[in-house]
Amino acid sequence: MRPTRAPYIGLTERSDHYWMMRPLDDEHNDAVARFYPYGSRQDGSYPIHHGVEFVNPLGTPVRAVADGEIVVAGGDQIDVLGARDGFYGLVVVLKLDRAMDGMPVYALYGHLSEPRVAVGQRVSAGQVIGLVGETGAAEAPHLHFEVRVGANDYQHTVNPELWLEPRPGYGTLAGVLLSNAGTIVDDEARLIIRSASGAARYETHTYPAVGVNPDPGWLENFGVGDLAAGNWTVQTFHRGQLLEATVNIVAGETTWLEIRLVR
Ligand SMILES: [Zn+2]
Repeated sequence: MRPTRAPYIGLTERSDHYWMMRPLDDEHNDAVARFYPYGSRQDGSYPIHHGVEFVNPLGTPVRAVADGEIVVAGGDQIDVLGARDGFYGLVVVLKLDRAMDGMPVYALYGHLSEPRVAVGQRVSAGQVIGLVGETGAAEAPHLHFEVRVGANDYQHTVNPELWLEPRPGYGTLAGVLLSNAGTIVDDEARLIIRSASGAARYETHTYPAVGVNPDPGWLENFGVGDLAAGNWTVQTFHRGQLLEATVNIVAGETTWLEIRLVR
């Protein structure tokens, strides 16, 4: 599925599929934490991240992101859902009613202190399904949130930021970093993303060749959400080349950016 070796062929029709509301309401921290984005290793020492974090206090209610059915609720020791058994502690997995091109879509909630649903239960978008915790491999209370397409396993994750409805006034950036031959750069190039005023500065990396996946609807190798509408500069220094691009982020939309190395 991942076009790492073949020349990159972009889809003719890329479009948003914001099928999910935020798993936390806006009275709590409903912004994705920027320190450990999808596909990154944080400071280099962490495992490749298969989801995103929402940092909130213990006991904060988490909500169904869409209508669907609960397929996992409880400890992840029996079915290994993460990197090893017990990785996500107390977990809820919701299977959405909607499928993408026939492929099932799942939302996973990890490190909960308490699931509030049972397997087989139907839930509606916005319904409380559990509470934030720090069970499993968590160093502090937070929600680990994953999206899986095609199968409910660790190998089928995609970037949740391309699925979560943007917060009001915010949009999403998705793109690819390509070699001069047009192939995907899959050696974790560092990207610096700055707002026009310079007040906001985020870092991410392009996805590694294995572990995480491009989105079936976007085929990106980087994606960052929660960017305030307006101009942003994307900069990378990779393989001895400094590249910079300016993008206009539109509220409520995903903006596509293609960056190509020149040699
Ligand atoms: Zn996480």
